[in-house]
Amino acid sequence: MNKQVAIVTGGAQGIGLGLTQALLREGYAVAIFDLNQAAIDALVAEHEDLMGVAVDVTSSTQVKAAVAAVTARWKTPDLLVNNAGVTRDKRIVKMTEEDWDFVVAVNLKSQFLCTKEVVPGMVEQGYGRIVNISSRAWLGGFGQANYSAAKGGVVSFTRSLAIELAKQGITVNAVAPGIVETPLMASYTDEQRDRLKASVPVGRIGQPDDIAQAVLMFANRKASYITGQTLYVCGGRSLSSPSV
Ligand code: NAD
Repeated sequence: MNKQVAIVTGGAQGIGLGLTQALLREGYAVAIFDLNQAAIDALVAEHEDLMGVAVDVTSSTQVKAAVAAVTARWKTPDLLVNNAGVTRDKRIVKMTEEDWDFVVAVNLKSQFLCTKEVVPGMVEQGYGRIVNISSRAWLGGFGQANYSAAKGGVVSFTRSLAIELAKQGITVNAVAPGIVETPLMASYTDEQRDRLKASVPVGRIGQPDDIAQAVLMFANRKASYITGQTLYVCGGRSLSSPSV
């Protein structure tokens, strides 16, 4: 494989799909790790240089096998984008242990598992880029104790790993998106959209490609002096106080 190889977790839909499309346009070969087999199959049928692995990124054995499959087919990945995420918003008194474990596992543990599997190869090749998707919600959000804690964990995980891997040519950064248009929003009324837009200083809802531009910046080979950083991509929404 003479192209740069990227892995995008949760790459079959929403922001992850936008990241996958942007990376393909930039000339990467992209491996998607996602649960959604039907979406993976449809994408693989459309694009060369795209492989899809149906994998639960909270399972260490599945992640291990998936990274091995990418390496065997192409080569050691140059870029890992830890994007898979879920929410299960509830007030703390209604939040179950399962709600907590599920959200922390998909948003945070998956990043540990995928990173752990790609790092040895990156160290061996003396080069790597890791971009972790956090959220503006790490600042705090009503009914989001599980999600906010996991996304705050992503920021801390990113900072620690950046220090640990700095001498190996591997940078580790995070992107904290604000409100981004995803399939979920298709059902929103005009009034709901207007209310959302009004809360964003730039006056529009973000698109997956807005997030992709930040990921591409961190992924750039020339961005070797940027590590351990979290970049808000939220139209200025991080500048106002967190929702209470
Ligand atoms: P989405 O629900 O549209 O897509 C998530 C993808 O991850 C899906 O394809 C899903 O199949 C996959 N996935 C979920 N659990 C998985 C698992 N265990 N293993 C493998 N794949 C799994 O989500 P999105 O809105 O595109 O969010 C993407 C990332 O961006 C998440 O980390 C999310 O927390 C973050 N984020 C989103 C927004 C937003 O407004 N959409 C804002 C801030 C942060």
